[in-house]
Amino acid sequence: MSPDNTTTRFLLPESRIPTTWYNIAADLPKPVPPMLHPVTREPVTPGDLEPLFAPQVIEQEFSTDAEIDIPGAVIDVYRQWRPSPLVRARRLERALDTPARVYFKYEGVSAAGSHKPNTAIPQAYYNKVAGTKTLMTETGAGQWGSSLAMACAYFDLACEIYMVKVSYDQKPYRRGLMETFGAKVTASPSGSTEAGRAALAADPDATGSLGLAISEAVEAAVGSGGSAKYALGSVLNHVLLHQTVVGQEAIAQLELADDYPDILIGAAGGGSNFAGLVLPFLRDRLRGGRAVRTIAVEPSSCPSLTRGTYEYDFGDTAGLTPLAKMHTLGHDFVPPSIHAGGLRYHGMAPIVSALVDLEYTEPRAVPQTACFEAGVTFARNEGIVPAPESTHAVRVAIDEALHCKETGEEKTILFSLSGHGNFDMQAYLDYFAGVLRD
Ligand SMILES: *Cc1c(COP(=O)(O)O)cnc(C)c1O
Repeated sequence: MSPDNTTTRFLLPESRIPTTWYNIAADLPKPVPPMLHPVTREPVTPGDLEPLFAPQVIEQEFSTDAEIDIPGAVIDVYRQWRPSPLVRARRLERALDTPARVYFKYEGVSAAGSHKPNTAIPQAYYNKVAGTKTLMTETGAGQWGSSLAMACAYFDLACEIYMVKVSYDQKPYRRGLMETFGAKVTASPSGSTEAGRAALAADPDATGSLGLAISEAVEAAVGSGGSAKYALGSVLNHVLLHQTVVGQEAIAQLELADDYPDILIGAAGGGSNFAGLVLPFLRDRLRGGRAVRTIAVEPSSCPSLTRGTYEYDFGDTAGLTPLAKMHTLGHDFVPPSIHAGGLRYHGMAPIVSALVDLEYTEPRAVPQTACFEAGVTFARNEGIVPAPESTHAVRVAIDEALHCKETGEEKTILFSLSGHGNFDMQAYLDYFAGVLRD
């Protein structure tokens, strides 16, 4: 292979936006263990999920078809920012003096600034078609909330968001963005649900967690009598499915570059941006193609993959959701209030957990100050300030590139730059002020 030696941005025209999502359930050597009903502990049926999700979303959650058509109405919205660029980090490579080729797939070009609209748009669309009036959700740092708020504005749905209190206080501009898109935002724990009231009774100063905010949003949706449904921004099979546009585009873009990755890297909170990048490459591997190393990076303060156990656990704090077999720290785990709010989830997607269990994916945990250091190095060379979540992938990409410098190997490294950090400047200011702890 003779990789392209001058091009920096590998771009595809709108006509190359993928027309199908890739479902890895069709190719895995053994099926991902099914979700279990929270009361009966029997495998959940599509009917069990009806109070929460639109019919087509439920169908996708259980599907084993390899390719699932992307609706035209969804592709029409994807055109606003897709295909996203694949960028060769040439200045970073020179700064590191590495023989490795380092690429990143940049999802910060969406209006919400991350990969999350890739699934927010289809979820809102399927709910619109099904007659839903309101979508309820939770958000940590606010990227998912702003993505769903935008999607609801496009498809004329009301949107109500429970935002983890620590982020509600730390990130007022994300809330401003959600409200600009027309959403109603409530700090969680709130007094408006039973789950929230119980948490406040136990600790009036509770800073909240994603697990608790999920309980509140699920409770609000189920209590709506059918007019409201729930939307989740990560973890579930259909969410990971929607994100596979990312990896499919990256494969085509690396073809333009005459290259193929040795290592794929992504930050993993619930696992969706990581999966979106790697699943299409793993399809190649599972069908007898080239093997690629994949590394899922998590914060050492919320280490579900590296320190959690692989067992059935609830998706939320109150135990309202089905149980999923996943790497988990326990559904009542409240992670420290690190700035990478999107990585503060106690569990991990069942599909990503299975990939780790099958040893297709290596998990790695990194402390937050090392991540911000990498984020600053990246910004000073590539100009983009990474989201605090994305700095976890940047850290490991830099570490792998430096390892290549030691060994002299010319590896090809591709990482997911899942979002920009333009709304997260307080986190960078705290880093510069030396007040961040590991
Ligand atoms: C939400 C978020 C993450 C973590 O979620 P995943 O589902 O693991 O991708 C990572 N990066 C950004 C920019 C996010 O907004």
